[in-house]
Amino acid sequence: MTDRIHNFSAGPAVLPEPVLRKAQEAIWNVDGSGIGIMEHSHRGKVFDRIITEAEQTCRDLAGIPDNYRVLFLQGGASLQFSMVPMNLLPPQSTADYLLTGVWAQKAIKEAKLVGKVHVAGSSESTGFDRIPTQDEISYSTGPAYVHMTTNNTIYGTQWRTEPSIPSGAPLIADTSSDMYSRPIDVRKYGLIYAGAQKNLGPSGLVLVIIRDDIVEQGPKILPTMLQYRIHVAEKSLYNTAPTFAIYVMGEVFKWIKSRGGLAAMAELNESKARTLYDYLDASDFFRGTAQADSRSRMNVCFRAPTEDLEEKFIKEAAKRGLDGLKGHRLVGGMRASIYNACPPAAVEALVSFMKEFERANRAAAART
Ligand code: PMP
Repeated sequence: MTDRIHNFSAGPAVLPEPVLRKAQEAIWNVDGSGIGIMEHSHRGKVFDRIITEAEQTCRDLAGIPDNYRVLFLQGGASLQFSMVPMNLLPPQSTADYLLTGVWAQKAIKEAKLVGKVHVAGSSESTGFDRIPTQDEISYSTGPAYVHMTTNNTIYGTQWRTEPSIPSGAPLIADTSSDMYSRPIDVRKYGLIYAGAQKNLGPSGLVLVIIRDDIVEQGPKILPTMLQYRIHVAEKSLYNTAPTFAIYVMGEVFKWIKSRGGLAAMAELNESKARTLYDYLDASDFFRGTAQADSRSRMNVCFRAPTEDLEEKFIKEAAKRGLDGLKGHRLVGGMRASIYNACPPAAVEALVSFMKEFERANRAAAART
């Protein structure tokens, strides 16, 4: 018996149940130390082991090469929108951005406060319902870096693979909503950042993976907390780190490993997404909003025939223990976020409710 319901929230989102159980114990007494995880000094032996293990497991999962640093920072993914250009966009240079949604837009807004931005590719003209093709992308000459958003949480689109980019320019990726949901070839990137609250752990914490040659690029006049070099030199412990969040992230990494790693996650996520998209494709009541070749395996966005029916669907779903299905306020409709920790049973329960709802409301839809 469980008192938990199915959670399709876009983030903070569902976490693996074994991790939550272990965290419950760790809050009281971590590793038999007689002290809870939140009460340990971030400079003590117990936490030192926790952060070292978290980093090691993170490295093992993606085979992160030795010339990359792994950082556990604060300020969410949003602070990376600023830190990236502040550190990597020199005054006379241009940064190229791929504009695939609201989060990319926000990243661009922050970069423009720092320097010159060129939008190298965009799907804005079709309401961000797809990922631009390589033919549609046109880079500036010698960009300082290229920035992409691997998964667009609000629109439910996802890059299948990295775009080709000008040689010499580092690829910077916001992977907040699909980090470690599939294998990632870290060598293709200069810097990867991911807010934790979807696939990796508690909100506030952001995972940053940065290549050594990029670490020292930032001007030394930046505020200390905004310089990558400081966080690298201090191994994420320049100030008091969010110890509990790092603990949970480390446990999530271990959970992913125990479930077979990133390839196994990809297979599971692919299969959950297929269950939903197959049903959406077959339905003449619900319809998916993202173009088929750009569909996200993490956030499945869909509409019902009318807004009234959408409201009714979300309300009735919640009564059945299917929570968090309301689409982002900017786009409306419905969104099922089915991250790593979302069990296949949750997706099956959702599809079976959708079928039932479709049958019961087909007549109402036909009248409109
Ligand atoms: N990027 C993406 C792709 C996101 O989905 C989000 C949050 N939903 C953010 C950035 C912002 O993250 P945070 O709220 O942790 O700053």
